[in-house]
Amino acid sequence: MPSRRTGVTTSDGSDNRRVVPATRVAVAAVVGFGIVILLEPSIGWKALAGLVALAIICLLPQRPRPPKALRDPQSRTTPTWPDDGVKAAVEALPDPAFVLGRDLTLRYRNAVSAVAFGPLTMGDPVALRFRSPEFLAAIEAAAASQSGGSALYDEKRPVERHWEAQIAPIPAAGSAAPHFFLLLFRDRTAERRVERMRTDFVANASHELRTPLASLIGFIETLQGPAKGDAAARERFLGIMREQAARMSRLIDDLLSLSRIEMKRNVPLTAHVDLGAILAKVREQMAPLAAELGVTIDYTPSDRHWTVAGDTDELMQVFANLVENACKYGESGKRVVLHLSEGVEGGRAFIDASVQDFGPGIPPQHVPRLTERFYRVDVGNSRAKRGTGLGLSIVRNLLLRHRARLLIVSEPGQGSTFTARFPAIGATVD
Ligand code: ADP
Repeated sequence: MPSRRTGVTTSDGSDNRRVVPATRVAVAAVVGFGIVILLEPSIGWKALAGLVALAIICLLPQRPRPPKALRDPQSRTTPTWPDDGVKAAVEALPDPAFVLGRDLTLRYRNAVSAVAFGPLTMGDPVALRFRSPEFLAAIEAAAASQSGGSALYDEKRPVERHWEAQIAPIPAAGSAAPHFFLLLFRDRTAERRVERMRTDFVANASHELRTPLASLIGFIETLQGPAKGDAAARERFLGIMREQAARMSRLIDDLLSLSRIEMKRNVPLTAHVDLGAILAKVREQMAPLAAELGVTIDYTPSDRHWTVAGDTDELMQVFANLVENACKYGESGKRVVLHLSEGVEGGRAFIDASVQDFGPGIPPQHVPRLTERFYRVDVGNSRAKRGTGLGLSIVRNLLLRHRARLLIVSEPGQGSTFTARFPAIGATVD
């Protein structure tokens, strides 16, 4: 039997309300009014008719209402679009952000997202743009749990990008379930690149160390076994082992140097140095190597100071590396020239210190990669010349601390010029 309800619902949603049957209300009304008419007939039949109508309404069958906790207020009250407050908040986010409906269709997007992900139509399922099944499954799971979650999203085209996406419910006033979800993207491309570089670096360094180490172990085993009593073989092998050990030592020195330089990269420079004096010292220092290779190093000191903010030891290391490379790889040109000059670029004065050789030069496709760690045009040639593949990377890192750039110009068959371009702080004449 239909019933009218009065009373309250407890906070746990249990149904403990007092129930007053509608029939009892109707019968009570008619009986009560009959007594009133008997006592006071002047009240009239019109009033009685009204009361009978009321009783009939009470007796009409009522549709039972489910308990409040089971009712779905969303079906009729869910808004289709987020309100202006939500839109303004999403627009203010510095990262690409989307507002999704509960059915994971697009309901709003900020301007940054258009730059990152291109045009998207409102109302379209988010799956039309983000096609990775794992990513979509993660979004669906996060939305279903209503507590949010995160997922990774990678794109290969037009450029490789790596994103981390957070999906979070947007609380709705007066509703336990959210109407919308925020899908917020963070660009993790740079972090992933650094991570990959670090892993590659460790792999390369291990490989570079393992090669001479394997050779050392091999010779030790030979000397202990088949060549045990062979004095001539022992002498020869010990010579090779010494060379391999020296190679490992050079590599470790370069690795330590790189990590020290990276740690100091943001330490400000406090001293001023004269690049002319540094080039003169490097020329002196490299003279024995140049003589061994039959190369002459030309440098004509001038009577002016080429002053830059710098660290003498670090700049000595920069130019020693460049001059050593010029002598080793440009050996056939027989000549290396050190040169200082000045100029203006973009309204800023600079000082160039360059090392030029007249050797075979470098094919253009290799030039942009020369400062990468362990990058070599010809690995065998570099090893034969006692290279580690870290020299130019060390140079680049040292120059970064000096706010200087390394410019490489090379013409196959003509030679190469490596120039360190420093911001000028003043060039004075004696
Ligand atoms: P390495 O220890 O192998 O010399 P670097 O980082 O100093 O490593 O140089 C990287 C590579 O760049 C070298 O292996 C060599 O192939 C090339 N290179 C550097 N300087 C010159 C040059 N002056 N002429 C020709 N090739 C050069």
